[in-house]
Amino acid sequence: MLAIQSSSVHGLFAPASTLPGIGEKRQYLINRLTEGRGRIIDLLYHFPVGITEWRSISSLSHASEGAAVRCLVEINDYNPARRPGQPHRIGIVDSSGVQGEILVFNTPAPVLASRFPMGERRIVIGELAAGRLLPTFIHPQAVLKVDSAASLPDAVAAYPLTTGLHPDALRRYIRAALNAAPELPEWLPPELVAAHGGYSWKAALEAVHRCNHTKARQRLALDELLARSVAWNRWRHAAQRHAAPLVATGALSRAVERALPFALTRGQQEAIAACLRDMAGVQPMLRLLQGDVGSGKTMVALFAALAAIEAEAQAALLVPTELLAQQHRQKLAPLLEPLGITPAFLTGRSTGKQKKQTLAQLADGTARLAIGTHAVLEDNVHFHQLGLVVIDEQHRFGVQQRLSLIDKAAGGAAHTLVMTATPIPRTLQLVSYHGMDTSILAEKPPGRQPITTTKLSQARVEELLERLDAALKRGEQAYWVCPLVDESDKLALAAAIERYGALAARFGFHQVGLLHGQLKAAEKDAAMQAFSNGETRLLVVTTVVEVGVDVPNATIMIIEQAERFGLAQLHQLRGRVGRGSKPSACVLLHAPQLGDIARQRLYALCRSNDGFWLAEEDLRLRGGGDVVGTAQSGSGAFRAVRLPEDADLFPQVEAITHAVDAHPQIETLLTLFERGNAARLPEAG
Ligand code: ADP
Ligand code: MG
Repeated sequence: MLAIQSSSVHGLFAPASTLPGIGEKRQYLINRLTEGRGRIIDLLYHFPVGITEWRSISSLSHASEGAAVRCLVEINDYNPARRPGQPHRIGIVDSSGVQGEILVFNTPAPVLASRFPMGERRIVIGELAAGRLLPTFIHPQAVLKVDSAASLPDAVAAYPLTTGLHPDALRRYIRAALNAAPELPEWLPPELVAAHGGYSWKAALEAVHRCNHTKARQRLALDELLARSVAWNRWRHAAQRHAAPLVATGALSRAVERALPFALTRGQQEAIAACLRDMAGVQPMLRLLQGDVGSGKTMVALFAALAAIEAEAQAALLVPTELLAQQHRQKLAPLLEPLGITPAFLTGRSTGKQKKQTLAQLADGTARLAIGTHAVLEDNVHFHQLGLVVIDEQHRFGVQQRLSLIDKAAGGAAHTLVMTATPIPRTLQLVSYHGMDTSILAEKPPGRQPITTTKLSQARVEELLERLDAALKRGEQAYWVCPLVDESDKLALAAAIERYGALAARFGFHQVGLLHGQLKAAEKDAAMQAFSNGETRLLVVTTVVEVGVDVPNATIMIIEQAERFGLAQLHQLRGRVGRGSKPSACVLLHAPQLGDIARQRLYALCRSNDGFWLAEEDLRLRGGGDVVGTAQSGSGAFRAVRLPEDADLFPQVEAITHAVDAHPQIETLLTLFERGNAARLPEAG
């Protein structure tokens, strides 16, 4: 079997399609399954959620619908499909004379004849389909000769799936990933390995996919927690090299506060005061600002930046997407320009003369505030006197990325404010944010309108369209979100474009806009701009990365296939409405048939607008179904850790972090998770 070169961790980040038996064509399904990442490592960390056990039954009449069974039968009938798209029907009879059926689609006749020879006995393994007259297997897992069935396992791992991906295929892919995975050099001290069942990293993965050991999974959970904790500690250290105290004078902030069309909330005032206090000290600030979507975190960032500028330092505001960067600029520039401050804007799209000028202004200090994306982290970006770093949606950046910004600071140290929209459960803070000061914006700004959330079966979409029509006629604006993890997911993109076409045909092309990742940068801007200034009233958005967009007149959020989104993410999406002066609505469109977890998720959302409560629910309900975009659930989705079960590991992790950081193999572990968890680059252009 092809093994990844030597014991290097780097081969694990190759696309899954580089594995034997996985074609390019399947890559997009694996992408869809793994938040668009689709690498070998993502298959390895795609853990089973349960186990499918086949119960041996002597008669087909002994099993209920949906049961996974194995049964000895004789092939006694054969009806080929009459038209393409229809199934072939193979008659079977068990030893007690009960008649049943096997349905198979799209199989050439010769293959069929050899798989199901008339009059012969076979062992059928599979699930009994629901709602049929006869006991029926649809595409059974296996149909085996009687003697070869003995070697078959009684159980297999059951994985979260995605539409179009057969469980057997996924099992094969994961098998291929396991075969290719190297034994990595051990980074845990021997006594810890022993305490967790003696599994090496690779052995633990093997065991988890055989779904027979909690200890193995706990070892992997420990790895993950340690990686976070070590990375966090390093960052904290770097952030705490001596930074120059920045003492606010109020010269700028007083003017801005007067110019604001609203009064700062108490929470904002307190958070700002805390930042100013921190920044004035000799110990650099290291503060986490938590506040639900729409709670007004940007104002806190602004006033912290003003304080830095008053103290003659520069400030940088780092955001994960182009769109967010633009929005921050649009919001902040009018407040800053009267004071003679023009934010320097730097994203993946900045090029040419303008970029050169921006870089020069940051380097010589004429630009006081930088707003930008990952582009700010590039080596050619230098600051004259960077004193404050603000990181919005912090979980979208890896520790290395955050470190590289701090390295640009004056004297290699900066005051740091990180902001997150998804509350981080207390237990988690111990590991990932240990030693950090926290401010919370508990209240939203006053005058916020409630958002009424309802769920609606896709089958009733017509009713929704009628209501939408009325709302658009009243002058309201709406988002229509289609799930799409990965732009290479052509089917989903096509479905979204088709949806756009249908909506535009119904409501008029001049009224409906479309925004997706495959558009050119200028087209994206135009679509967003048109919606933002009210030219278009309905915006179909396919990409889910643009969290945080602010269009106050938008009052309706429709989310298609809502069951595929994680709770935290649905909450974030919903947070895009309810920002203006009118009451808002969020409609969760879902498949007519819903799984248990999906249903609970949607109900939770209809019931509550409380991000904190939802974050806890999210952790509880994690791991079921075909969910897109958990990467964005702010706690920084775990791969191996399960809560609350693993909460016991937290104090242990805290106690050994320091020692483990000194281990010669620690970099392997850090790479495993740092690169493993790094989000896909959010910017296409
Ligand atoms: P988030 O916390 O999600 O980043 P924003 O900073 O984008 O939230 O703020 C959401 C909206 O609330 C913006 O339109 C902003 O102008 C507005 N806002 C912020 N603070 C206040 C306030 N104190 N009173 C009224 N509106 C506010
Ligand atoms: Mg924000």
